[in-house]
Amino acid sequence: MRVTKNISIVLMLSFVCACASLGEKGSQVASSESPTNAELNQKFDQFKDSFLDEFWSYAPGWATYVGYYKYDDQLRIPSKDSRQAERTFLLKSLVELQRFQLSGLSTNNATDYALIKNQLESGLWYLDEFREYQWNPSQYNVANIFGLIINTDYKPLDERLRTITKRLENVPAYYAAAKESINNPTLQHIGLAIQQNQGALAVFDELIPNKLQQSQLNADELNLLKNRLQLASQSISDYVEWLKRTQSSISADNAPDFRIGKDLYEKKFKYDIVSNYSAEELYSKAIAEKEQLHQRMYEITQQLWPEYLGGEKMPSEPLVAIKQMIDHLSTRHIERENFVTEIRRQMPIIQKFMDDNKLLDSDPTRPLVVREAPEYQRGFAGASVDAPGPYDATANTYYNVTPLDDFTPEQAESYLREYNHWILQVLNIHEAIPGHYTQLMHANKSPSKIKSVFGNGAMIEGWAVYSELMMMEAGYGNNEPEMWLMYSKWNLRAVINTILDYQIQVLGMQQQAAIDMLIREGFQEQAEADGKWRRATVSQVQLTSYYNGYAEILAFREELKAKMGDKFDLRSFHNKFLSYGNSPVPVIRKLMLAQWGLSED
Ligand code: ZN
Ligand code: ZN
Repeated sequence: MRVTKNISIVLMLSFVCACASLGEKGSQVASSESPTNAELNQKFDQFKDSFLDEFWSYAPGWATYVGYYKYDDQLRIPSKDSRQAERTFLLKSLVELQRFQLSGLSTNNATDYALIKNQLESGLWYLDEFREYQWNPSQYNVANIFGLIINTDYKPLDERLRTITKRLENVPAYYAAAKESINNPTLQHIGLAIQQNQGALAVFDELIPNKLQQSQLNADELNLLKNRLQLASQSISDYVEWLKRTQSSISADNAPDFRIGKDLYEKKFKYDIVSNYSAEELYSKAIAEKEQLHQRMYEITQQLWPEYLGGEKMPSEPLVAIKQMIDHLSTRHIERENFVTEIRRQMPIIQKFMDDNKLLDSDPTRPLVVREAPEYQRGFAGASVDAPGPYDATANTYYNVTPLDDFTPEQAESYLREYNHWILQVLNIHEAIPGHYTQLMHANKSPSKIKSVFGNGAMIEGWAVYSELMMMEAGYGNNEPEMWLMYSKWNLRAVINTILDYQIQVLGMQQQAAIDMLIREGFQEQAEADGKWRRATVSQVQLTSYYNGYAEILAFREELKAKMGDKFDLRSFHNKFLSYGNSPVPVIRKLMLAQWGLSED
C-alpha cells in the first residue's frame, strides 16, 4: 500500500478491480471443515489458480504490476473484439464459480469466493453499463507498465529490453483502438488524459533510451527497439493531438457532464465499496458525523484558547475559532531535514503503545523497515507503506519516506504545518501501526492471492482510519486535547470526502461551493481543496471508501459489544477481524457472527 497523501496504489487498483456484494442472502457458510469438504476445497484451490492465470491473460499489465510476469510482453489492444472476449471470459468464469457449493468451503475459500464473484459481476457491469471506456480517455495510457518493467530488476536488463520490444509492437494499434472506442468524452477526463499522456512520453523518449548504453543487445535488436520506441512516442503524441482537437470541438455549454448521477453512483458504490449502507445512507451518516466533529473541535478550542491565544478575543463563529486554533498549533512541527529520522524514531514508540495496551497481536519476525524512498518511487513527497506483492509475499514491508529535499522553503513549511507535531503521529498510525502495515501482516497469516489482488479497498482504508480511533481511545498522546483536535481534523477529511463526492456526483454541487466547503468546514488549504475538486471530477465513489470502511468497522464493533456484553474483548475482536484478510466488512461480519455463534440481527 503505497499511500501518498491518501492515494494508495491498492485504491488505484480498485478503480480497476471493483468488487460486488457477497450475494445470496441466507447462504450458509460452514464454520469448520468436515472431511468431505476437504476435496471440495482442494478443487476450489485448483479453480482459483487456473482462474487467476486466465484472468491475467486478459489483464497482462495488471499481472505485471502485481509481480506475475508470465504475460509481461503482452499489451492488450482495447478494441471491441477484446471487450467481447473479456465478457465471454467473465460469464464463463461466473458459471464455473457457481458450481461450487459455498456452504462446503473453508472460511478462507468462502471469502475468496465472495471476492471472485464480486470481481466478475462488477467486471460485467463496468463493461456493459458503466462503459467508462467510452467517456474516459485517461483510461488509455501505456506508460506505467513499461516504466515498471524497466525499473524492476526481476530479470536481467537485456531480457527486460527484449520484453519491452515485444510489448511495444501493439502500441500503435492500442491507440488506434482507443480513438475508436471513445465516444462522448467529458472535458475533465480529456484534460486528465492529455496531461497524463504527455507525461507518458518521457518513458519512451528518455527513461528506456537512457538504459540502452548498459545493454548488450546486438545491432538488429537495438534498431528494432529504437524504431518501436519512436513509433510508440509518435502514437502517444498523435493521441494527445487528437484529444486536443476533440477538446476544442466541444463547447463548455453542451459538454457531457462528468457527474454520473444517482443511479450509476449507487451501483458503482455497491460494486466498488461493498457496504451494508447505501450510498445515500452513508452520505446522511457523514453529514451527522461532520456536525459532531465540529462540535467536539469547538469544545476543545474553547478549552485551549486561554492557554494559547488568551490575549486575543475568540471569534464568535465556531468554525473560524477552530481554524485559528488549528493554524496556531500547526506551527509546532519538526524541521524539514529531520522528516525521515523522526518517522523512524516514532515507530517503536507507537508499536510499544499498541502492545502495552493489548490492542492486537503483532509479529516481531516480520518487522517494518523504515527507509528513504528509492529514487524511482519518489515524485510525491511523504510517507507510505510499500507492501510485498501477492507473488512475492515474503519480501520486506517498507515504510518509504521521501525526504523533503525538492521542496522550496515555502512548500516545505506548508507541508510540515500540515504534517505537524500531532498529525505526523496520526499519519504513522494510519500508514503503519496498527494501520496498513499491521493489517497486512495479519492478512498474510492466511495468504490468499485472491484477497491480495481483489482486496476490498474500503476495508483496507477503513481499517487504517479505524486504527487511528483505536489508538486515541486507548489514550494515545496522553489524551492531550491538542492531539484530539488534530486527530479530529484528520478524521474530518475522510468524512468530508464522502460528503463532497456524493454532493458533486449525485447532487450537482458546483466548484466554488465545493472549495468553500473544504476550506471553511474542512479547514483545508486552498491548494489541497483545488486538488480535491479535480480528483472528485475524474473519479467517483473511491473518496467514500475511507469513511465507509471506518463507519462499518465501528458499527460492527458496537454491535458485538451489545451482543456479547462482558464477553467482548477488544484484542480478540481485532485479531479475529483481521484474520479474514482484505475482505469486505459485510462479508467479515457475516462469517464472524456465524463462527462466534451470534445471530445476524
Ligand atoms: Zn514552521
Ligand atoms: Zn491509507
